[in-house]
Amino acid sequence: MDLSLSYILNELGEDRENYFNAIAPPIVQTSNFAFKKVDELGKAFQDEMAGYLYSRGLNPTVDILRKKLAALDRAEDCLVFNSGAAAIYAAVMANVKAGDHIVSVDRPYSWAQHLFNKILPRFGVVTTYIDGTQIENFERAIIPSTTLIYLESPNSWGFALQDLKAVAELARAEGITTICDNSYCTPLYQRPVEMGIDISLQSATKYIGGHSDTVAGVITGSSAMMRKIFENEYMTVGSGIQPFNAWLLIRGLRTLPVRLEKIGRNTEQVVDFLINHPLIERVIHPFHPSFPQYELAKRQMEGACGLVSFVVRTDNRDSLVRFAESLRHILMAVSWGGYESLIIPGCASVPPEQFDAGNPAHRIFRLYIGLEEPDYIIADLEQGLMKIP
Ligand SMILES: *Cc1c(COP(=O)(O)O)cnc(C)c1O
Repeated sequence: MDLSLSYILNELGEDRENYFNAIAPPIVQTSNFAFKKVDELGKAFQDEMAGYLYSRGLNPTVDILRKKLAALDRAEDCLVFNSGAAAIYAAVMANVKAGDHIVSVDRPYSWAQHLFNKILPRFGVVTTYIDGTQIENFERAIIPSTTLIYLESPNSWGFALQDLKAVAELARAEGITTICDNSYCTPLYQRPVEMGIDISLQSATKYIGGHSDTVAGVITGSSAMMRKIFENEYMTVGSGIQPFNAWLLIRGLRTLPVRLEKIGRNTEQVVDFLINHPLIERVIHPFHPSFPQYELAKRQMEGACGLVSFVVRTDNRDSLVRFAESLRHILMAVSWGGYESLIIPGCASVPPEQFDAGNPAHRIFRLYIGLEEPDYIIADLEQGLMKIP
């Protein structure tokens, strides 16, 4: 199969002769599909993954997207969900049973934490969180009932990495399933399945959608793993993506490489500005030489862009609030991966009376650098920082 990026994005999975040679694929907005033969209907009942029966299962628009996303990850198959959180839920639930133990990296995506802390304990599944930067910590945390290792590399807040090949090797030797949240990199910059991880997962809301108008999630892995999840969690929870949203993601994929390239160039310039600013104590970005795991980042990832954290030098909360509220173009909002730059102040998660200027985590900002001109973003940060002293 041709796995060149251009082929995957422009042609793979598309069947234009079957829809009037239209360049853009149709949105097959249907809930159900008709049959002419009783035996064919019977076969579809037997195996919903074999053809089109009902759109909670397979749908032709969604299938185009599945083929492209699987190929991008060099994985056998892919499932696409109505959110990244739904993808996490399905991937995790499919691989645990009562009595099992999960080893997770510290501070994974917040709704993954919620699943581990609030939902799974009700079913007798417990989770141990570890600092995933050291492979020894995985070795120490594994117990006989460990069936799942949950990774997020880089983490979307502090950007801590895990050595994916080393963790995969360790897990395989112990018969443990591995899941890696790859939202930060996308398959363009990191392919966990190629490194031996069982399930690669991403929030397609971020870079794949790319326009802040769709919520979606993706998992890729072996055909057997995807079938197991399809036949159970995917079909019973009914959290598969709808055809229109799948179509928006196909559209997003067309321009993913150029968007990442531009965001990458912007990020370099904005990081340079921040590092040299006297009011910035520290900048955290995996591809900056000051990053503690810089060597691993360079070895494991083909690129890093968009998300940057920085710590502002101040001894009071008011100046952080003033900075955040005086930005004119950078919007204060969750999420990332779209065309627009965004910021989240860490102090928004700390009750004001508990604010401690001695704790850098209370003075941190997470900035997402979008597609604007770098000077435009930098000028906005600069005028905002002038409000601090
Ligand atoms: C946003 C995000 C998710 C969840 O995805 P949704 O599409 O919002 O449900 C999961 N992991 C990471 C790292 C994210 O940033």
